[in-house]
Amino acid sequence: MLSAQKAGILKRGLARRLQNGRRLLLRGGENMDGQWTNQDVKRANRSRVFRYFCEAGTSSLPEAARALGMSLPTVTQNVKALTESGLLQAGGSLDSTGGRRAKAFCLCARAHLSVGLSVTAGHLGGVLLDLQGQVLHTKRERLPFAPGEAYARAAAAFLDAFLEEAGAAGAPYGLGIALPGILDRTRGLLTRSHALGLRDVPLSALTAPFAQPCLLLNDANAGAFAEASGGGLPARFFYLSLSATVGGALVENGTLVEGTSFRCGEIGHMTIYPDGKPCYCGKAGCLDAYCAAKALSKKRPLAEFFAALQKGGAPEKKKWRSYVEALSIGVHNLQMLLDCPVVFGGEVGAYLPPFLPEIRAQVAARDPFADPAPLLNCRYTKEAAALGAALAERARFLSEV
Ligand SMILES: [Zn+2]
Repeated sequence: MLSAQKAGILKRGLARRLQNGRRLLLRGGENMDGQWTNQDVKRANRSRVFRYFCEAGTSSLPEAARALGMSLPTVTQNVKALTESGLLQAGGSLDSTGGRRAKAFCLCARAHLSVGLSVTAGHLGGVLLDLQGQVLHTKRERLPFAPGEAYARAAAAFLDAFLEEAGAAGAPYGLGIALPGILDRTRGLLTRSHALGLRDVPLSALTAPFAQPCLLLNDANAGAFAEASGGGLPARFFYLSLSATVGGALVENGTLVEGTSFRCGEIGHMTIYPDGKPCYCGKAGCLDAYCAAKALSKKRPLAEFFAALQKGGAPEKKKWRSYVEALSIGVHNLQMLLDCPVVFGGEVGAYLPPFLPEIRAQVAARDPFADPAPLLNCRYTKEAAALGAALAERARFLSEV
């Protein structure tokens, strides 16, 4: 376990990161008060140059200056500093456009790796990214969650094996963890996780099994972050995660909306049928009771369920009708409130593309305007929460360069 002093440092570190996260929402080098300082401008320039190399991989200095609209001396100075930090290095190959080749610099993509872990009631998943955002390794293991030392040891062993398999043992890395629970960043608490059976657990206790500070995220928020990072989606959308539990997240202007009590998007516990089926939260008639993966298939893989459904199996069709009815009520309510596209993610979301017209028709039938906002497929069908946690950790690292 962490000492109180170390936990304090961790909490302050998280607060600083959150502040950094908020800073990213501001324009350029503007600070929290809307004022620019020299230091802010320098930092923003450093960050822009580094992000450029994270995208481009390899570039000459004149090419970087042109792409960034910066002066050559500013780019040169920042590339020198980034090279001294071990984040860039001289070299790499550039396509010749004739004439003398400009000296190239390239990203040291493994100078910092980002690990995302996804904790669920039954499994632990992992995704490893390099600085360019390339997925280097993924892993998923059955590991039932149970608070205590044994689980903490198993999770730490999973991480060690994961890094070893990726050939990244000993490499510098940061850790993001996605889990199904409400994370109150103001109080530094996981206030509630029905799925994991936790209440009012300090965030420091959750990260204690790991050697370094971690970024913690709600699992649906992590999935939404992955989708938002993937590009191609509108700036405002709702991510509906349909997995072992049902959750959601609202993205506005490319940023997650967390809500007053960090519960924004908890659509799994929206009442669909008053006094309906019992939900694991203790209430009845929640969307989760009708639209979690187990509503379709308790034991066999979802792939088998959907294969049987597409062959016209009667028991599958019955379950599917009930599933789509509840889903369309939930999505309709959501759209009446938010009027934005809905992205279907999670384990069930991965199988929904062929059924979108049917779901859309049922949502439209409930819509008094008969014109619901678009329903979209997710881009990431596997380990989206772990990927989102890794991407958020990578974003944190980039914001601090
Ligand atoms: Zn519920």
